Amino acid sequence: MKEIILLKSGEIALKGLNRGSFEDALIRNAKRRLGSLGRWKITKSQSTLYCEPQEDGLDLDEAVERLSKVFGFAALTRAAVVEKSWDAIRAAAIEYLADALPYVNTFKVNARRSDKQFPMNSPEICRELGGALLAAYPHLKVDVNEPEMVVWVEVREKAAYIHARQLPGAGGLPVGTSGKAMLLVSGGIDSPVAGYMMAKRGVEVSAVHFFSPPYTSERAKRKVITLLEKMCAYTGRIKLYVAPFTEIQEQIKEHCPEELFTIVMRRYMMKIAQRIAAQNDCTALITGESLAQVASQTIGAIACTDAVCEMPVLRPVIGMDKEEIVQIARKIDTFETSILPYEDCCTVFTPRHPRTKPKLKFVQYAEEALDEEGLISRSLAGVEEITIQP
Ligand code: ATP
Ligand code: MG
Repeated sequence: MKEIILLKSGEIALKGLNRGSFEDALIRNAKRRLGSLGRWKITKSQSTLYCEPQEDGLDLDEAVERLSKVFGFAALTRAAVVEKSWDAIRAAAIEYLADALPYVNTFKVNARRSDKQFPMNSPEICRELGGALLAAYPHLKVDVNEPEMVVWVEVREKAAYIHARQLPGAGGLPVGTSGKAMLLVSGGIDSPVAGYMMAKRGVEVSAVHFFSPPYTSERAKRKVITLLEKMCAYTGRIKLYVAPFTEIQEQIKEHCPEELFTIVMRRYMMKIAQRIAAQNDCTALITGESLAQVASQTIGAIACTDAVCEMPVLRPVIGMDKEEIVQIARKIDTFETSILPYEDCCTVFTPRHPRTKPKLKFVQYAEEALDEEGLISRSLAGVEEITIQP
């Protein structure tokens, strides 16, 4: 029996005139995510995408798994493709659901008929198919209120489709439809979650990571790459820029008051990140800051950090508790990697008593001791580019 994957688009239905380009982005993203699994044909009709295998033996389970992480879909399901005749629909439903109906006790049939030429209307299809399934599987009972399984029959333009295992999609908007932003990614729990959340709103994510050899190890850098490899199941391809930060941190340590280390360092991160962002068509930065989680994330400290930013800084986890962030990190499978105990450049130079209410003018005064342009341009010159593929 021929099987395909049906995907229902979600919120993009609301986008009026932009709808066409949103759907094109959805198809493009779905195609990319399936590319390495073989040849597929993806077409759209009404608010449904049809994903048809073009060669034998393609792994539909893996395809469903991958597509369930593509933003922009409300629901998806494997479905049997059936000729549009009542006999074919009845026979196919009995056969196609043979690995499912024996394991439930109650069911109901839902029908949708967009092809009004089909001689039976939706209530008739429901009634007749319900009866046929009861006859074929006598242990079953119909329960219209809380069935264990809903059997769907959709009679559409080209064929009828039967399915019974609809799964929730990833929701959100297709990646790429909300522009492009640069994620400051550490090896911690929060920044991968922040990247995931913005991708869910349609942002194409690039990433910058600051590393400070020999204070931070190759393993710490490898950990960031692993985090992005997990994230990109949702975000799609990510360009990672690894920027050297050792000289900057050493200079800050040598020339600035200890209680201002962190804030000066964070301002340098932002300055460099936004230069790399601008060179790569990103129009915003993303961080994993959560209000008051640490000294550098008080409103006062954030104000000092933001003072160097010329582009918007998106902070999607700013109002979330650690527990809520951890929940998402577990869901996207980054948590176990994030808690591996490798050093981050932030932790290596943590002052004993960081300022929680830094005054901007003192911070700026402290920074005058540094050769800002030289430090930034030497870091930019050492940037390494790595492409992370799903
Ligand atoms: P995370 O869990 O994301 O590491 P955190 O709670 O440890 O966050 P900080 O270490 O203060 O908080 O970092 C705040 C934000 O600054 C991070 O979420 C990230 O966006 C950015 N950041 C921190 N360290 C780095 C780094 N080495 N490279 C790039 N960005 C960083
Ligand atoms: Mg951190």
